[in-house]
Amino acid sequence: MLSLTDLVPDPAALERIATGSTWAEGPCWIPATRALRWSDIPGDRILQWHEDTGETTVYAEGVEYPNGRTLDRDGSVVQCSHGRRRVERDRDGVVTTVVDGWDGVRLNSPNDVVVARDGAVWFTDPAYGITQPREGHPGEREYGDHWVFRCGPDGEDLRPVVLDVDEPNGLAFSPDGRVLYVASSSSAEPVVRAYDVDGARVKNGRVFARLHDDEGVPDGIRVDEHGDVWSSTHRGVTVFGPDGTRVGDVRVPEVVANLCFGGASGTTLFVAATTSVYRIPTTTRDAAAVS
Ligand code: MG
Repeated sequence: MLSLTDLVPDPAALERIATGSTWAEGPCWIPATRALRWSDIPGDRILQWHEDTGETTVYAEGVEYPNGRTLDRDGSVVQCSHGRRRVERDRDGVVTTVVDGWDGVRLNSPNDVVVARDGAVWFTDPAYGITQPREGHPGEREYGDHWVFRCGPDGEDLRPVVLDVDEPNGLAFSPDGRVLYVASSSSAEPVVRAYDVDGARVKNGRVFARLHDDEGVPDGIRVDEHGDVWSSTHRGVTVFGPDGTRVGDVRVPEVVANLCFGGASGTTLFVAATTSVYRIPTTTRDAAAVS
């Protein structure tokens, strides 16, 4: 197993590259424009930091409280919308619905999303966007729970796949796509759970890793090319090895909501942390970048 300094040679190299968000979430590296895109959820806008200039610009405003996002294989961006209670696709600024309901009722408020190797869209659907006034619009849990769903690239064949996570939030696949990790943002049980993927189903759910008492709850997670799981925490980013062993943590001076790998080399870790976005060099990259 790699050590933290194998992965992050200089933990002190953390650099704040942008600030002024209210609650920064959903970072995603956009290779075509060499930009990091993220959501300022209560600010109801999407921001971008441009690697070439170091400048931050507003990508879109009045966008119905978007949250997590991921790059699809065709270069479009799949993102979650609290306000529209849907998963949507942004292709060159044209935003369309992927899916917004299940079994005749609305979703809660999709939070984070990942695209699997076969193009299927997997997303979590907790209730923050309908229970937290700053993050969406008040509403009911119309199917009475909060699950992880899977659907085809255009929203077809939507089905619940994970029903046993207290507060499902971030999610990511192992490098071989055979394990799904789901973060539970439950203060009573702040864990990352793991599931074996069997086609469109999962089985053998178990606790993969647990945060310490002073780390708060996990939110966004990413998996690197070695199978390490990088979890947001209230004090930074904690890294777990493929077997769940704790590798170490990168301290960040604000509560971290989410993270992603990116940059020209793919090895920069970007961290969305409350009002700011930080970056730090690593020696690894996202598992999806090498599959
Ligand atoms: Mg989240």
